[in-house]
Amino acid sequence: MKASSKRRFSNDLVERDRRVIWHPYTQHETAGPPLPVRWGSGVWLETVRGQRVLDGISSWWVNIHGHAHPFLNQALIDQATKLEHVMFAGFTHEPAVELAERLIEILPKGLARVFYSDNGSTAVEVALKMGYQYWLNKGECRQKFVALTNAYHGDTFGAMSASDTSSFTEAFRPLLFNVLRADSPDAISCGSCSGRCDAQCSVALEVVLGQNRHSVAAVIVEPMLQGAGGMIVWEPGYLKRVRELCDEFGVLMIADEVLTGFGRTGRMFACEHAGVTPDIICLSKAITAGYLPLGATIATEEIFEAFLSSDRTKTLFHGHSYTANPLACAVACASLDLFKGAGTMSRVTSIAKRLKEGVETLAELDQVADVRTIGAVAAIELKATDAGYLAGIGPMLHQEFLRRDILLRPLGNVVYFMPPYCITDFEIDWVLGEINDVLSNLEGDRAWG
Ligand code: PMP
Repeated sequence: MKASSKRRFSNDLVERDRRVIWHPYTQHETAGPPLPVRWGSGVWLETVRGQRVLDGISSWWVNIHGHAHPFLNQALIDQATKLEHVMFAGFTHEPAVELAERLIEILPKGLARVFYSDNGSTAVEVALKMGYQYWLNKGECRQKFVALTNAYHGDTFGAMSASDTSSFTEAFRPLLFNVLRADSPDAISCGSCSGRCDAQCSVALEVVLGQNRHSVAAVIVEPMLQGAGGMIVWEPGYLKRVRELCDEFGVLMIADEVLTGFGRTGRMFACEHAGVTPDIICLSKAITAGYLPLGATIATEEIFEAFLSSDRTKTLFHGHSYTANPLACAVACASLDLFKGAGTMSRVTSIAKRLKEGVETLAELDQVADVRTIGAVAAIELKATDAGYLAGIGPMLHQEFLRRDILLRPLGNVVYFMPPYCITDFEIDWVLGEINDVLSNLEGDRAWG
């Protein structure tokens, strides 16, 4: 670009943004200006005005090793000098094959075929299409899916259909396909159990499956942690029971590990908590450690084989221009190297311990209804008159935390802390202290007068 055309733009990034950008999940009529970020390093982001902000939500749950990690930067540069992209129908390349081999090696045993796409929603779309067409190719008409209450699976139409009704899906409701819904293990208590929900709370799922014998293609769940639905943490018994029920009723189990994959829950994959292998698993977000968009849907060999035929209509007709992008696959491989070499999982274990102990103090606050942790995630549910994603308290808290140099983006009345794994103990304690201070000063939906 010539210097003169550069000068045509105003220097104020926020003003330029205001004129041309449409941001995600943003009501532009009322939203404040976005934070212009120029630089990232480890857990820290720095704005163009020089404010340093701790990334307490791993930039939408993707960044696990920290921003601008030198090892990942180098992997990206190395790959860019070799091959930036090639179409993936009829072509292949080293990073895609290496990543698939390495994923299969570390995923729950039995998952054998990697289908690449672009993001979490497409990873779910592919899983739904695979699950549906699997039965079709076998000559069975199974047109129903079962999903859980509080589920969130993405913003494309299939993923929205599988998601529970919420602000994310409401406007599109007439366009969504019907999905059978069973109660998920509730965050606090479902009423039919004492304490945390567990295996016994799968009765609803059992009933739905019983009433729809031979017409359900698959059950889709977010194992161990329902994220956008409110950071609801499960006991492993429930997940184990989902697998048992899928086997009992002969339906496929789809695990949406878009959020939970790559160590977030304290295990490399959340299914490991219950020792189960789903028939299909969806991965994205942390797969490239937050560098580039990539989705992966991994199926068993049995599912793959149901698509093999001399009849070309049995093909899985799905693909994206950037499928298996070599840059993304190369960084994903480098991220797996970091898990191997840098003791990443043991760091997650110590973060988990510190968060678990740290939130105990928060649980005692009058303003707090519940606290829950799993792996490198801590969630604090506030008592609120208007709960849910649009609860007024969320944006207020977001602003207050930013003022204190911390990026936290509450899901309505649920404040959660989900840092990159490179966060230090000192930084964890500082963030928890700030959360304590902010919540202690909260009166109803008003605060910090
Ligand atoms: N599944 C789950 C469990 C998610 O948490 C998300 C995103 N929050 C998605 C799917 C969709 O991923 P993406 O935003 O990359 O489309």
